[in-house]
Amino acid sequence: MPQTRTFPRICIALGLPDVPTLLEHARREAEAGEGFIEFRLDYLEAPCNGAEAIAEFLERFPDCLILATCRRRQNHGKFNGSVEEQLAVLDLAVRNGAQAIDIEIETAETAEERLNAFRGRAQIVISYHNYEATPPMDTILSRMLRVQADAYKVVTTARKPSDNVRVLAAVKSVAKDRLVVLAMGELGFPTRVLSPVFGGAFTYAAPMLAESTAAGQVSARSLRHLYRVERLKKAARIYGVIAEPVRHSISPAVHNRAFQSRRLDAVYLPFLVSPAHLRDFFLMADKLPLAGFSVTIPHKQKIIRYLDSVDPLARRIGAVNTVWRKAGKWRGTNTDAAGVTAPLGRLLRLPKSSVLIVGNGGAARGAACALYDAGAKITLVGRNPDRVRALAKVCGAEVLLREQISSHKFDAVVHATPLGMFPHVNECFFNGSIPASVVFDMVYNPVETELIKRAREQGRTIVPGLEMFIEQAVRQFEIWTGESAPRSVMEKAAMEALEQQK
Ligand code: NAP
Repeated sequence: MPQTRTFPRICIALGLPDVPTLLEHARREAEAGEGFIEFRLDYLEAPCNGAEAIAEFLERFPDCLILATCRRRQNHGKFNGSVEEQLAVLDLAVRNGAQAIDIEIETAETAEERLNAFRGRAQIVISYHNYEATPPMDTILSRMLRVQADAYKVVTTARKPSDNVRVLAAVKSVAKDRLVVLAMGELGFPTRVLSPVFGGAFTYAAPMLAESTAAGQVSARSLRHLYRVERLKKAARIYGVIAEPVRHSISPAVHNRAFQSRRLDAVYLPFLVSPAHLRDFFLMADKLPLAGFSVTIPHKQKIIRYLDSVDPLARRIGAVNTVWRKAGKWRGTNTDAAGVTAPLGRLLRLPKSSVLIVGNGGAARGAACALYDAGAKITLVGRNPDRVRALAKVCGAEVLLREQISSHKFDAVVHATPLGMFPHVNECFFNGSIPASVVFDMVYNPVETELIKRAREQGRTIVPGLEMFIEQAVRQFEIWTGESAPRSVMEKAAMEALEQQK
């Protein structure tokens, strides 16, 4: 009986303009193993034809659960008809086999009596949408719970990181498996992964080959295989990366694969955090709670003031890229530094070695402090001599102008500017001969940068930026979990993630 069937954890939302396209996409999803599909009938020019097509689809895929939705334009859908017409379309969908229907609260409140006609025939999901913000969840839920339904769906828009915790906290207030909560937008992404883990009925995913129906949706493949929403337990440890932008970070691919390979009940999420929201992010981090996180552009310096303790090297560098929680206190360190010294130390005897660092930003500063501590003799070059000199004072470095470097020779060059980074892949700081036998490029997208290509052609020993990335990620994993990191799994995941971005 449809009404006794619990919802699968992931629902693919299909909003397409005509019935053949809808059926084609539904077929692809079902053949890929998806068992729960939302037919957005309001997206169709002829919603009734879509409702009738459900029977044809279910004949081929009888194990699929179809959720039929025909949202009215007044309620942010595309259906132009009256409430009566909306309910007639949904009734037709149920007669053709839809096992669940989504009815927005605005319709449900005006036609509560009419909902009785669906009871026992299909599961009724009452939904609330807010495209502007995340209002107090209690108020929304008490309004919704007045209408009897099998499940309630609350979709808001995240405006700041802590909106995620307010939305997720609601899962606990309604009986298990009866609430679907999501915050739309990239800021709300954590709710898409965590709500079903915390006991929500299901989450929505974007289709494989069509546009998503809401901002922030990701593919079912990512939800299932990267974030493992169907496997994580409620007490799963939560990690992540804070950045702006965060969309192209390869860290979720790398750390989730590492957790998976070590069979840890843990997940790593991308958190979009603007500088103005750093304080608010800690409200979320405390309440979720987060067990630890990576920090990247533009927060590596500013994060320090929010931490309870920072180790001496990170403090001297003035940047933290790794945070974890111990005994309720936030601690910070800098694993980028070891990301430079470990690969170089495998190739050179660092004490007394001569290293030219190109750049004077955060990464150059980290490299300079760490190499100085390791006993290397450092020379700095950059495009702005005043800024280069300021950094030189911190790490006892010599300063050269760009035109002077060709008459010098170093054991290693560490390139720490964005030159050559995607999409400006043809850029390179060095025009002629590279004045060192080891060439370390921090840029890792693309993996084979122009500098690395030229170094290879000139017979130099190379250290690609991906090696630094993996080294710092390996150390983060070990700090967070206390276990040895699966380095080769992480390398493979990083390469695949970079490949997918091409
Ligand atoms: P940052 O703080 O913004 O510093 C950038 C540096 O590059 C500054 O010294 C800047 O000089 C210089 N620069 C920018 N554009 C330049 C140009 N067109 N010509 C010459 N110099 C230029 O950035 P960051 O955090 O230090 O990062 C630097 C690079 O390292 C980035 O590509 C980043 O992706 C990479 N990185 C890689 C890893 C890894 O794990 N592999 C880790 C950290 C960073 P001005 O001061 O004159 O503006």
